[in-house]
Amino acid sequence: MAEKRDYYEVLGVDRNADEAALKHAYRALAKKYHPDTNPGDAAAAEKFKEASEAYSVLSDPEKRAQYDQFGHAAFEQGGGGGYGGFDFTNMGDIFSEFGFGSFSDLFGGGSGSSSGPMRGANLRASVSISFEEAIRGCEKELEINLKDVCPTCGGNGAKPGTKPETCPKCRGTGRVVVRRQSMFGMMQTEQDCPDCNGTGKIIREKCTNCRGTGYITKRTRISVSIPAGIDNGMSVRIRDKGEPGTGGGPRGDLLVEVRVARHPIFQREDTDIFSTAPISFAQAALGGTIRIKTVDGDVEYEVKPGTQTDTRIRLRGKGVPSLRNKNVRGDHYVTLVVEVPTKLSREAKKALQHFDEVMQK
Ligand SMILES: [Zn+2]
Ligand SMILES: [Zn+2]
Repeated sequence: MAEKRDYYEVLGVDRNADEAALKHAYRALAKKYHPDTNPGDAAAAEKFKEASEAYSVLSDPEKRAQYDQFGHAAFEQGGGGGYGGFDFTNMGDIFSEFGFGSFSDLFGGGSGSSSGPMRGANLRASVSISFEEAIRGCEKELEINLKDVCPTCGGNGAKPGTKPETCPKCRGTGRVVVRRQSMFGMMQTEQDCPDCNGTGKIIREKCTNCRGTGYITKRTRISVSIPAGIDNGMSVRIRDKGEPGTGGGPRGDLLVEVRVARHPIFQREDTDIFSTAPISFAQAALGGTIRIKTVDGDVEYEVKPGTQTDTRIRLRGKGVPSLRNKNVRGDHYVTLVVEVPTKLSREAKKALQHFDEVMQK
């Protein structure tokens, strides 16, 4: 195995990078090299694994401290399979936090043989929710086309009382070798058998219920429970609502991508919320009570006398709940903006002129 790269170098951050910087760097790399965006690209998959490994260590303060002290040697004892001796089985939390599937979904878990029981493919769907729903969590109903094994033929596609026959052309292998003369000499390529479309079986009389496909598709309502704190682009996994498995394998999962609508006044960054609130010149100078909109409703806030414009205040615990523990919430930062009046009555103008005179004394 090649020399392992330094985790900080892998993520492209310096050694003092904080949690937010690590997350930011990992998110960008994971997006770029994610197997879903680079299907069949082994080099990208390796990069994705490398970045995931680096992030899983550096985002854990205890492991990071060990790594800083001992380097890769901190994690090398034990071995136990996985990626270069690294145990990926604990990546589930991180992958779900970033909305990725599990490690075995991404890279195949264990057996790759096509004849044994195979888990069905995962299905993907998406659901749109409001900013507030993302903060409180919600239940959404979804309609999807769910494939199921045809009950009439039991999935073999043949009319009841008949059986699929072994394809004579490929002798049931589903593959045929084609030879042809080319300018480089005799070329030999293997391809799907054209008679049976690669299934290895010929159905003489098709099941009428599924038209020989072995599967029926039903429009199915599914309720999705979306946890409080979910962020735009994350996915919720619903077990066993994907494609049916083959050879007795389990169904795949349904991965529902959550799209969170923008809010007219609140912006969100991880678990923190940002907004601005106007205050009058008099409130800024004299201090006073203002009302600030938060996701929990309006709160009263005491502005200090002499508050300057663009002063940022923090409303602790008024942010977004953490996905890991909904009792832990981020903060709400409010930028106070002093408003200069644009329309002044004659009386107000007079008062301000008087104020100015007094200030010059
Ligand atoms: Zn059928
Ligand atoms: Zn065939």
